[in-house]
Amino acid sequence: MSTQHFASDNYAGICPEAMAAFAAANAGHAPAYGEDDWTRRVSDRLRVLFDTDCDVYFVFNGTAANSLALAALCQSYHSVVCHELAHIETDECGGPEFFSNGSKLLPARGENGKLTPAAVLEVISRRSDVHYPKPRVVTLTQSTEVGTVYQPREIAAISACAHEHGLRVHMDGARFANAVAALGVAPADITWRAGVDVLCFGGTKMGLPVGEAVVFFDRALSEDFAYRCKQAGQLASKMRFLSAPWLGILEGEVWLNHARHANAMARRLAAGLQQVPGAKLMFPVEANGVFCELPEHVLAGLRERGWRFYTFIGAGGARFMCGWDTLPESVDALLADLRVLSA
Ligand SMILES: *Cc1c(COP(=O)(O)O)cnc(C)c1O
Repeated sequence: MSTQHFASDNYAGICPEAMAAFAAANAGHAPAYGEDDWTRRVSDRLRVLFDTDCDVYFVFNGTAANSLALAALCQSYHSVVCHELAHIETDECGGPEFFSNGSKLLPARGENGKLTPAAVLEVISRRSDVHYPKPRVVTLTQSTEVGTVYQPREIAAISACAHEHGLRVHMDGARFANAVAALGVAPADITWRAGVDVLCFGGTKMGLPVGEAVVFFDRALSEDFAYRCKQAGQLASKMRFLSAPWLGILEGEVWLNHARHANAMARRLAAGLQQVPGAKLMFPVEANGVFCELPEHVLAGLRERGWRFYTFIGAGGARFMCGWDTLPESVDALLADLRVLSA
């Protein structure tokens, strides 16, 4: 067995179902640029999954999905309210600002990586004059960057507040599957039924080789989106290889079962960490990530033993992500090393 890591769920390979669908799409010639049968079928399948007539586009990664979706909602003089830990703010190299020609991100605070209507209101009512960029979008990350999950009513409350003030709602769903699995709700219940206008539905971390789906629930917002993708270098000519893998995981409940498994592995790790002296969980473990404060010598010891993980939040905080393929034995091996190093 090769060593598994906890640095990110994108360390995992391609799940077998996606791989099979990918291979099946490698069948002779097919129309390019999304005019193929696979892309049409996956888009239809997503409309069934979300129980609504949404517009669907496939792009290569999450940064592009978020940046282009936000650019579609904003003019250059607009602004986007996000959590201060939002991926668009901390990890997209200014992509949303670049593709929107200058829309400004307005970070807000909130416990457990989540925005609240009050936090949004605070940001958008600071100023209403022409000298300040006009708030246009609220963006939520589901599940969040710190492994928590918005409840349907929390999303609905933020959306209601946003819409009341003329703002649109974008959802960064790089780990949308983990949230749906955790909540046990219909995908529609935490998206359009809760007021979300556009969702970036993450495929990569779910077990696809590459690619995310941008899902417009308000179809008026997707006008000219195909041009935006093309100009940004995000229109795949052999689109079928981006879209077909989705067919494999949307069959039955494959995607949800993978996400349920990843979430369960995170819970297993969190439970074990509670028995490790000196370890302190930083956030409720609601999806597939575990954030834990650990003494510096323990972090160093883990690295020495070859474990890979990120420490980008807080002081001494380590992030451990679980994926569709995380083995219980890998969780247990990490915990065993943690116990030895903490003794
Ligand atoms: C991984 C991730 C993305 C997408 O990142 P890319 O590397 O651009 O694919 C977006 N948002 C969140 C919250 C993520 O964790």
